[in-house]
Amino acid sequence: MLSLYFYKTDFVEKKGVNLTPDDRGYYFGDGIYEVFRVYNGRIYEQQAHMDRLQKSAADVRITLPYSLEQIGDILTKLVQLNELVEGTIYMQITRGEAPRAHPFPAEATPVLLAYTTEVKRPLTTIQNGIHAISLEDIRWLRCDLKTLNLLPNVMAKQTALDRGVQEVVLHRNGTVTECSASNFMIVKDNVLYTHPANNLILHGITRAVVLRLANALHIEVQEVPFTLEQLQQADEAFITGTTVEVTPVLTVDGSPIGTGQSGPVTRKLQLEFERTFAL
Ligand code: PMP
Repeated sequence: MLSLYFYKTDFVEKKGVNLTPDDRGYYFGDGIYEVFRVYNGRIYEQQAHMDRLQKSAADVRITLPYSLEQIGDILTKLVQLNELVEGTIYMQITRGEAPRAHPFPAEATPVLLAYTTEVKRPLTTIQNGIHAISLEDIRWLRCDLKTLNLLPNVMAKQTALDRGVQEVVLHRNGTVTECSASNFMIVKDNVLYTHPANNLILHGITRAVVLRLANALHIEVQEVPFTLEQLQQADEAFITGTTVEVTPVLTVDGSPIGTGQSGPVTRKLQLEFERTFAL
C-alpha cells in the first residue's frame, strides 16, 4: 500500500517532505490542524471539519493556501492514492517559513502537510471502557481553536498514562471542561450533560454528532457546565472523539461512575452511532 503525503503543492513520498526548521510550526506551534476519520474509504463529517478549519484559520489569521473545496479534493485524492479504507487523515497548515521572529512574516506562504494512517476502530475500549484521572485545565482561553500548541494536552495525557489510566478529565476550578484529546459527557437521571461549546473546549465533531443522535433518540441534552462533584454523582460518563468515537469512562480518580460499567444511555448512543455511520 502506498503511503503518500501531500506537502505544499504535490503528492510525494515521505522523503520528499522537505520540512525546514524555519517552518513556523516548528518554532512556535504557529499552525492549525484537523484529524479526519475515514470509514469505508469515505471521509466522515467532512463539511464540519472544513467549517472548523476555516474558523481556526480565520481566528489565528492564517490565510488558507487553497480554497476549502480544493483542500477537500486534495484529501479525497490522498485517500484514493493511498487506497485508505479505514483510518485517519492528519492535516496541518502552518503560517509558513521564515527566520525565527515573533511577528507574522511579511511574505510567507502557508504550508499544507497531510498524510493518512491506517487505523482500526478501537473496538475493545469502545466495548469495555477506560479509566481516567482529573487534572487542572492549564490551557489558554482559546481551546476552541485547533492549533498545534498541544503541550498542555501532551503533558496531561502522559500524566494519565504514568498513573495507569487512559485519559484525563480536565477542570477549571472544579468545573469540568473536556479531556486531553476528547470531549466529555455525563448522564444523570437520563439527561445528557456536556460543557457548552464556547472558548474553553474544542468543538468536537463527534460531540456534535452525539448531541444530534441524542436528540433523535429523545434523550434530553443540557449543554451546561458541571463540576467534578456532579461527575462523581453521575450515572454514566463517556468521551467522544474522531478516533475514540463514544468510549465509556468507568472510573475517575479511582471512584466508579454509576455502577462502574458501561451504562445504557452510552450503549444506546454507541448503537445509534454505528447504525448512522454504517460501520
Ligand atoms: N477535545 C480535544 C482537546 C481534542 O484534541 C479532540 C480531538 N482529538 C476532541 C476534543 C474531539 O474532537 P473531534 O470529535 O473533532 O475529534
